[in-house]
Amino acid sequence: ELSLAQRVGRIKPSPTLAVTAKANELKAAGKDVLSLGAGEPDFDTPEHIKEAARGAIAKGFTKYTAVGGTPSLKAAIIAKMKRDNGLDYKPNQVVVSVGGKQACYNLCQALLNATDEVIVPAPYWVSYPDMVLLADATPVFINTTQETRFKITPEQLERAISPRTKMIWLNSPSNPSGMAYSKAELQALGEVLRKHPQIVIASDDMYEKILWTGEPYANIVNACPDLYDRTVIIHAVSKTYSMTGWRIGWACGPAKLIGAMADIQSQSTSNPTSIAQVAAEAALNGDQGCVTEMVKAFKQRHDHLVADLNTIPGVSCAAGDGTFYVFPNVEGLIARLGVKDDLELSDLLLQKALVALVPGSAFGTPGHVRLSFATSDKVLKGSVERIRALV
Ligand code: PLP
Repeated sequence: ELSLAQRVGRIKPSPTLAVTAKANELKAAGKDVLSLGAGEPDFDTPEHIKEAARGAIAKGFTKYTAVGGTPSLKAAIIAKMKRDNGLDYKPNQVVVSVGGKQACYNLCQALLNATDEVIVPAPYWVSYPDMVLLADATPVFINTTQETRFKITPEQLERAISPRTKMIWLNSPSNPSGMAYSKAELQALGEVLRKHPQIVIASDDMYEKILWTGEPYANIVNACPDLYDRTVIIHAVSKTYSMTGWRIGWACGPAKLIGAMADIQSQSTSNPTSIAQVAAEAALNGDQGCVTEMVKAFKQRHDHLVADLNTIPGVSCAAGDGTFYVFPNVEGLIARLGVKDDLELSDLLLQKALVALVPGSAFGTPGHVRLSFATSDKVLKGSVERIRALV
């Protein structure tokens, strides 16, 4: 019998993609499913970005590029990191990858050994624990609740750190909670991290631009400039410019680590698609008005959805700071509908109300669900109505 590598047994396929697949199955069977499962903006990629890609094809820019990205895309990334984040990087501190996801994966492969622990605040982006496991290391979870707006406290962080802790994932604003850490909160976490110089900080800034706190965006290095030398910033054009299918992300950090990540990439995918790199460059260097427009729409939908969800008995939804997700507590709804947990609830909502959303368990936080509002107001209103009707 065919015997697979042991590492395969440690991981599971992405649960968010599984929900989408189930919903699509019902749709294919003719059911009118309302889908709140998506992890991507519902807008089209802006026209000037598509035009740049067409230009690249026309000019024959269709061959291998440098593994870690073209010099001109790296320059655009360096300019963005300076302009928006006030951070300085040299080209050897930047690696362009096949989406933010490959940047995260390369980081784990380049940094982690079998005896290492990685701190993963929950709720977490579904891939963090499995990427750690694929690198033979061990995820150590910190659980959070709505009371702390799903953010870890310095005390929790201190308790989770051991001599084996090698890395921590930070993701602000967060998928799935929609919450962002304030600069002061990051400074408090930084005080703890400062005492443990062996810990590398992975700052996943994917949703930086989809934020409406009114405060300027701050990541851990903005809050604690002295942590620059051991922080890797991960970013992508995927969410900001509605470019999920183009697969361009990047990592900025210490040259030694970034170089190792590029070496790993050179033995797996080589460079990201040449044409997509040109498109990403146009996105970063071009007019940012398209981003403002999208964020405005997300904020409006967010406000309506949070208000509507809180009118459903058994649902408690805190307003988020950004992203296109909300993460309500549904323990009351689970009790009311007499189901076992958030997994059964999500199944019931899909089968009986034809509403697709992702159970909180997928993100390490049972008793909650994630709803994506990267969809029309009509679908959002309809979904709330269907859930209310079922209750
Ligand atoms: N990090 C977070 C928190 C995400 O939500 C996602 C996408 O869902 C990614 C990384 C990966 O993004 P990309 O599509 O650029 O690989």
